[in-house]
Amino acid sequence: MTAEQIRDLGLANGSRWCVHCFGLGVVRFGRPGAADFCRCVLRRVFRSVWNRYEYARDIGFWNGRLTIELIKRGGMVAGHKDAEFAADVVLIARRELDDFHFQVFKAHFLDRLEWRDSVRVLARFVHIARMAGSHDLPAIDRGNFFHAVYRLEAKLGRAFLTTAPYALFPTREYYNGKAISLSQIPQGASHARKRRNNGLAIGAAA
Ligand SMILES: [Zn+2]
Repeated sequence: MTAEQIRDLGLANGSRWCVHCFGLGVVRFGRPGAADFCRCVLRRVFRSVWNRYEYARDIGFWNGRLTIELIKRGGMVAGHKDAEFAADVVLIARRELDDFHFQVFKAHFLDRLEWRDSVRVLARFVHIARMAGSHDLPAIDRGNFFHAVYRLEAKLGRAFLTTAPYALFPTREYYNGKAISLSQIPQGASHARKRRNNGLAIGAAA
């Protein structure tokens, strides 16, 4: 992601109440000019994706829009966009989070438990992990629980924003596709495609 994209996305999604970026959505670090998203932006991205997940869950992952896509070889393939979106959210969480933070995600977000019930579930997880020889997990209390929630929101927000080739944020582009102008398609790619489609060597024909 370029510095310009970071600046634009940061400015569009920064919180004006944030004491780290004051609404700019970007924090600077290290060498001059180096910039990264402020955590308020990453958490906002997470919340946006999560709200879409909750909406899809409420109407039923398999009751939403059926999409038909043309495929290169010819023919069509049908898919449930909500189900694909939900699967992507969970797969990214599984890939990005360590075991402890995934348990927090599962309890508080997937299973919709309030913090008191989440803490009980997590205490059991930590107890079992310690019996299995893992001693680097924190004691679970309200403070540690919410710190873990903030960390996982920022981590997943970044993953939802940067996962290639289909980022989950903005969700509108995930669902509807991203429109690009002809001028954004590299010339080389366009020529190579023509050669494949026509079965002709353009260079040799000229
Ligand atoms: Zn901020």
